[in-house]
Amino acid sequence: MTPSAPTAEIADFHLAIVGGGIVGLTLAAALKDSGLKIAIIEALPPEQSREKPQAYALSLLSAHVWEGVGVWPALFPHLGKFERIQLSDGFYPGVVPFRAEELTGDYLGYVGEHRQILTTLQTFLDGAENLRWFCPARVTGFQTGGDWTEITLERGESAEVIKAKLLVGADGAQSPIRNLAGIQTRGWRYPQACVAVTVQHQAAQNITAFERFWQTGPMGVLPLPGNRVQVVWTLPLAEAQAMVQVDPETFIEALQTHLGPSFGALELVGPRRFFPVRLMQARRYVQPRLALAGDAAHGCHPVGGQGLNLGIRDSAALAEVILGAHHQGLDIGQLSVLKQYEAWRYPENLVILAFTDFLNRFFSNSFLPFLLLRRLGLELLRRIAPLKLLALRLMTGLLGRRPQIAQ
Ligand SMILES: Cc1cc2nc3c(=O)[nH]c(=O)nc-3n(C[C@H](O)[C@H](O)[C@H](O)COP(=O)(O)OP(=O)(O)OC[C@H]3O[C@@H](n4cnc5c(N)ncnc54)[C@H](O)[C@@H]3O)c2cc1C
Repeated sequence: MTPSAPTAEIADFHLAIVGGGIVGLTLAAALKDSGLKIAIIEALPPEQSREKPQAYALSLLSAHVWEGVGVWPALFPHLGKFERIQLSDGFYPGVVPFRAEELTGDYLGYVGEHRQILTTLQTFLDGAENLRWFCPARVTGFQTGGDWTEITLERGESAEVIKAKLLVGADGAQSPIRNLAGIQTRGWRYPQACVAVTVQHQAAQNITAFERFWQTGPMGVLPLPGNRVQVVWTLPLAEAQAMVQVDPETFIEALQTHLGPSFGALELVGPRRFFPVRLMQARRYVQPRLALAGDAAHGCHPVGGQGLNLGIRDSAALAEVILGAHHQGLDIGQLSVLKQYEAWRYPENLVILAFTDFLNRFFSNSFLPFLLLRRLGLELLRRIAPLKLLALRLMTGLLGRRPQIAQ
């Protein structure tokens, strides 16, 4: 895959996607062969952009989107797959088990490694006639006027200006595009941070995703191929910092206590990674000739592994709105078109942001009335089938408006 080499000589673009991460490339893949001329601008060289040692829980809806896009067959063999999800509250024995049969599918979700997902998307887009890569290239400014946005790129020592009808900021949580556009955000930092790590274990089966709520913060355990799991462990800030610094034996011992004996002996695979946690929603996702998607538009607590899934859904929704407008002969950068995307995705993302915030606050404390309430909640989830199904549909991304590409 050689995204640094132009795949087509195109002067002006319908669409310029800033950010060749998973969200940006999902949008490009959904518009491959659409006839729209697309620029993908990514600051990091391709090998470097693949290097994140992160894995993500992928919802059923994300799988459906990638099926519709056409990348799923290449990705599927490399994914961890889970047939079960277990929710638990500390050592309380009332565990809530969810099974794939409850949704009539084979799996409840998947776990993908960043390198694998991004490589698959890059390969899928390689050589596409309607795409041109600017990579490595960094967007340093843009100016909107009339029918176009002019985008300034820095490529090494030289600068270049390209024109597009629509600029999409899929450029991550710090989003230079959002900042250049002057779009404010709402949200807060949690007094918590995550330690993410991949470990090898000895359990006979590796088909369950666990969400374990400890009073110090939630812990997600996601199955990866090769008897590995990715652990995302939220802790109060100072404890998280300490957990990254303690010697590996002490870390493994603490992890073992929280995972329980069923995993057998654990071995660290790769470094421990530290992430501050915040909730963020951009005040708007669109303005004339500009749309934000993925972490550029929103960010949530990692409990439940929702962040990237929301971004994939944004990309599918934005592709649908753009294609609809293009087929009607409308200008894809005009505000009335982009508002359709915002009206669709803003409230749906807000629900998930609020839900993850609620889960984290409700479970990460030792306040007795909350403790009693949440155990009652878990019991109700265990016993009331429609309630359980609703929770399952929310976790797997099957609530809300489904993009056509995912149908
Ligand atoms: C500990 C942790 C665990 C998580 N677990 C999960 C999970 O299990 N499931 C899940 O769904 N989500 C999870 N998330 C969330 C997920 O990591 C993010 O939502 C996702 O990576 C965002 O993808 P993105 O493409 O929007 O942004 P990014 O991956 O940040 O990509 C943005 C791209 O834009 C490029 N860029 C930036 N500025 C410029 C510029 N000026 N010019 C050109 N290019 C630029 C960057 O180089 C980058 O490649 C987790 C997050 C954390 C912290």
